Amino acid sequence: MNAKPRGRQFFNNPGPTNIPDRVLRAMDRPVIDFLSDEFLAIHHACHAGVKRVLRTDQQLYMYNASGHGAWEAALVNLFSAGERVVILESGYFSESWTDMAVNLGIKVETITADWRKGVDVAKLAERLAADKAHEIKAVLAVHNETATGMVLPVSDIRRAIDEAKHPALLLSDTISSLASIDYRMDPWGVDVTVGGSQKGLMLPTGMSFTGVSNKAIEAARKNKSPRHYFNWDQMTGRSPQKFMGTAPVHMFFGLHESLKMLEEEGLEAVFDRHARLAEATRAAVRVWGGNGAGPQLFCQSPDRLSNSVTTVMMPEGVSSDPLRKAAIDRYNLSLGGGLGPLTGKVFRIGHMGDLNEPMLLGALATTELAMKTAGVPFAPGGVDAAIESLAG
Ligand SMILES: *Cc1c(COP(=O)(O)O)cnc(C)c1O
Repeated sequence: MNAKPRGRQFFNNPGPTNIPDRVLRAMDRPVIDFLSDEFLAIHHACHAGVKRVLRTDQQLYMYNASGHGAWEAALVNLFSAGERVVILESGYFSESWTDMAVNLGIKVETITADWRKGVDVAKLAERLAADKAHEIKAVLAVHNETATGMVLPVSDIRRAIDEAKHPALLLSDTISSLASIDYRMDPWGVDVTVGGSQKGLMLPTGMSFTGVSNKAIEAARKNKSPRHYFNWDQMTGRSPQKFMGTAPVHMFFGLHESLKMLEEEGLEAVFDRHARLAEATRAAVRVWGGNGAGPQLFCQSPDRLSNSVTTVMMPEGVSSDPLRKAAIDRYNLSLGGGLGPLTGKVFRIGHMGDLNEPMLLGALATTELAMKTAGVPFAPGGVDAAIESLAG
């Protein structure tokens, strides 16, 4: 084993993401009473700020839990065992959300899709049109599939539901797109948005939330199935909304600061920065791929490429493990691995959150170096292409 590498670790996982120094400094302070006026003011400001990022004027509930907790909150408040929902297959995260729903006794129908191309929304429209009895209670979609690097057109999904004149709710997971890729809960007609702290919001893991439409609140009131920790009704006790148990005050100190950072930069500028860095990453990968012998973009739908994570498919028969191991052990660059059936077959370059051009170029150049070290075949010149993309 080499000595511990010096310098900063370059962290390009698609979650968790880099925590900015400003956020770390904001959290470096003594605890305060979570029932004090001082904390309530911060809590209030954070609620309003997260709602602005989600683009909703409806309800927001926050949890001491990772994103999985917010997934579960959405399911247990809205559905009882035996009820039916439809999920759009996107990859590892749509499968994990499906497993959770199945374990809760919910009947899940999957609109299947090729993970490299993404779902055909017309298949959903067809299924909804056939559901004359309106047995389908909701449509679930992962806005940005972090495993494959693909974005789904959430507003088209809403249009398909409306055109079928179907009353189904629309639930969308925006955990890896929030504050990275344009997302508009109310304008797109989303009923529940699931978000988390450790991706575009640049915070530690441990807090998650759901934006909830008034229509979904009504549906939750009618649902009599048992629930407690995530029960929206019980949480609606205090202004703005009470936490179940002790509020994580340090997470709020951090969130307060990260919302300030996002608003100083401006959400549109944040999205533009992510688009610029993502395009440069893709420019590099396209060159590395050469005439088919090197690594390729996993996502094959040009209009669905994710601006927060790029999934890179390895050449046939070449594992991504030695490359990722060289990157972290020798060069202190952390890259994401493949999830589920993509384990070893892809690697992922996260480019979401607190990131700029030199950080991205460092990561891309070091990925090229690690490919050389690990003996991965690739065409050179990817970094030059990324520079051209950023300069243009
Ligand atoms: C990270 C992620 C999750 C899971 O969130 P945790 O905080 O790890 O529980 C769910 N969905 C998507 C799309 C994600 O990227």
